[in-house]
Amino acid sequence: MGAIKINLNTNYMPIKIYLNSFDTLIRPILTYGCEIWGIDLLHNKRNFKENINNDNSKPELLHMKFLKRLLGVNSKASNIGTRSEFGRHPIIAYIIQQIIRYYVRLEAMPNTRLLKQIYNCTKNKPFSTAKVANHIATLCNFQFNKYNLETQKDYKKCLKQFNNHWNFFLENDWYATLNNPRGPTGQKNKLRFYAKIKKTFCLENYLIIVKNPEYRKYTAQLRISAHQLEIEQGRHKRKTTTENNVEKKVPIPENERICNYCSTHSIENEIHFLLKCSFYSDERKDFLDSFNYDMSTVDPDSLVTELFNRRDSECVLKFARYISTLIEKRKKETMNI
Ligand SMILES: [Zn+2]
Repeated sequence: MGAIKINLNTNYMPIKIYLNSFDTLIRPILTYGCEIWGIDLLHNKRNFKENINNDNSKPELLHMKFLKRLLGVNSKASNIGTRSEFGRHPIIAYIIQQIIRYYVRLEAMPNTRLLKQIYNCTKNKPFSTAKVANHIATLCNFQFNKYNLETQKDYKKCLKQFNNHWNFFLENDWYATLNNPRGPTGQKNKLRFYAKIKKTFCLENYLIIVKNPEYRKYTAQLRISAHQLEIEQGRHKRKTTTENNVEKKVPIPENERICNYCSTHSIENEIHFLLKCSFYSDERKDFLDSFNYDMSTVDPDSLVTELFNRRDSECVLKFARYISTLIEKRKKETMNI
């Protein structure tokens, strides 16, 4: 982890190499023996289906620290947003796969083995490997009894099919969590903008194409709302109101999180910042003209979604540079206000 940290600051190494390094060097240490202790991790969660995307186990905390550093966002940035940028699930999803692999191995083991005899004796106890494995199978609509695990062919097929079902379940769960208006933790979802622009669960193209860490960082911050715009910062500010002659502090409502950089009294959200605010009109004109976009004919909401989902390198690069220019300009102006 230390070596990867140093490289993050000094090298422009491709993102995929960082991710592979984590999976091959760090994850095996974090999850060593997880087919056994992973059961306890699930035991502590009352309903782990609802907690897959809200995993706060120690391995996941380290995983998140690594991903947030790689993305260039602060520790308070959304966990699900950060993982989604890399197309990754929480480590608990991997631990569950290891539990299933162990369960299938035990089921396929001959009864003469001591381990199998112990397994058979504890099989029906609550939170045994067998009970947990079957509970997970029910969650993702999978049936172990379709396979004759004693044959090598079925053994491999069973694991492969389970992984397919599990990945399908995880992606559906991810989509539902992201689009839940109350958000994964029951708070008002701070990823409303992200839910609009994130269309598929995959490693985002800009993380591969854009080599400059600064451009990548600013793009990521804007995408997952880990930025300084008023719509986000206003969430943490309070204003004083008087109710029944009593003064009290209340959060600033969304419609009062106004842009301080133009005179339109608009809410400073991501779309206003990228496509509407007059403070950045020169930069915007240059950017949009280079792609022949005409703001008088396009809908800003759909244009933002399109820009964040374009796959051609030229546009991805120019858009990341455009975002960085705007954020830098806003930063400079903030110092003068
Ligand atoms: Zn403005």
